[in-house]
Amino acid sequence: MCFVRLTESRPEVRRTGKYRNGGMKLWIPLLQNAITSIQMGVEDFQTGRDERMLSATRNLYSGILLLFKEKLRDMSPPDSDEILLRVKFEPIIAADGSVKIQGVGKRTIDYDEIKDRFKKLRIDADWDRVGQVKHIRDQLEHYYTDTQPKAVGEAIANTFVVVQKFIRKELDEDPQALLGQNCWQVMLAQNEFFEQELAECKLSHQKVTWDFEILKDIIEEARCVECHSPLVMALFDNGTYQGRFECRACGITSDEDDIVETAIRPSYRYDIILHYKDGDIMPIEQCPACYRNTFIVSEDCCVICGYVHGNPTCLRCNNTISVDEQSVSGYCSYCNHKLQDDD
Ligand SMILES: [Zn+2]
Ligand SMILES: [Zn+2]
Ligand SMILES: [Zn+2]
Repeated sequence: MCFVRLTESRPEVRRTGKYRNGGMKLWIPLLQNAITSIQMGVEDFQTGRDERMLSATRNLYSGILLLFKEKLRDMSPPDSDEILLRVKFEPIIAADGSVKIQGVGKRTIDYDEIKDRFKKLRIDADWDRVGQVKHIRDQLEHYYTDTQPKAVGEAIANTFVVVQKFIRKELDEDPQALLGQNCWQVMLAQNEFFEQELAECKLSHQKVTWDFEILKDIIEEARCVECHSPLVMALFDNGTYQGRFECRACGITSDEDDIVETAIRPSYRYDIILHYKDGDIMPIEQCPACYRNTFIVSEDCCVICGYVHGNPTCLRCNNTISVDEQSVSGYCSYCNHKLQDDD
C-alpha cells in the first residue's frame, strides 16, 4: 500500500492568484490546514489499520470545516479581524471616529454556526454529505465496529464530492491541484467504488414488488437505521424478496418497515420546509393505526400498514376530522375539548 507524502502537494498551495479584494494570495494557513487535514485523513485510511480509522474521519471532517472557514475568512471585510469566523462581534469607534463592527475573542464558529452563516451569505455547500461524514465520525467515536474501513471509505467518498465542488465553485481554485495527485486519486477511487455500490443497491430496490406504488420513489432516500449509510441492499433468496435490507456499510439487516420509515421525511423535505415556512399542509403525519410517521397525507394512506383515513366527519359539528386528530375518536379536537369542558 502506498502512502501519500504530505510534502508532495504542499507547495501547490503556494499560488499566485489574486484575491477578490486585489491582494496577492501567497501563504494561507487556514487553506493549508484544510488541505493537510484532508490529506492526513486519506493517509490514515490508506494504512487500512482499524486504530487509524477514527483519526481518518476526524481529519476529513475537520478538513471540510476548515475549508468552509477559509471561504468565510476570504469574505470577511478587511480590518474586521476575520469577523465572519468569530462567534462574537461588537461595534467599536475606529481611529477616524467612524463606527465599525469587529470580531471579538478567540472562539471561532462551529458546524451549526457555519451552516447558519452560509445560509445567510448564500454560500452553497452539500450539507447532506457533510452531515454524513460527521455522522460516521460520531459513530466511530462511540463504537468499535469491524467494518470501520468500509465506513471511512464512504466518508472519503462524501468528502470528495463536497470538497471538489466547494473548492471549484466557492474558492475558485482547481481541487485536483490543491489536494495533490495522490490524495485526489485515492478519493476519486473511493467515490467510484461508493457510487458503484450505491447503484447495485438501487438496482435491488427496483426488483422489489412494493405494496404501494409511491414506495418506488420514496425508497430512493432510504438509509441504514444504524449507521445512516444509503448503501442498503434489498435481500433476495432464490429470487424471492425477503422483506429485509442489509447495510453494505455496517453489515446490519433491518426490516423493510424500518428502512421505509427512514426515507419518508427526506422524500418530503421540501414540503416540510413549506409547511413550517408558509403554513402549507404537513405532508406526513403519524399513522393512527401503526403509530409510525408514515402516513402520507396526499395519498391519504399509511405506506407501512395501509391505514386509509378517508373523510370522517365529527359526530358533533359535522366538520371533517383531519388525520392528526385521530386520537380523539369520533369528534374533532375542538368538540372533544368542548365535551371534556362540559363534563
Ligand atoms: Zn449501516
Ligand atoms: Zn400505519
Ligand atoms: Zn367537531
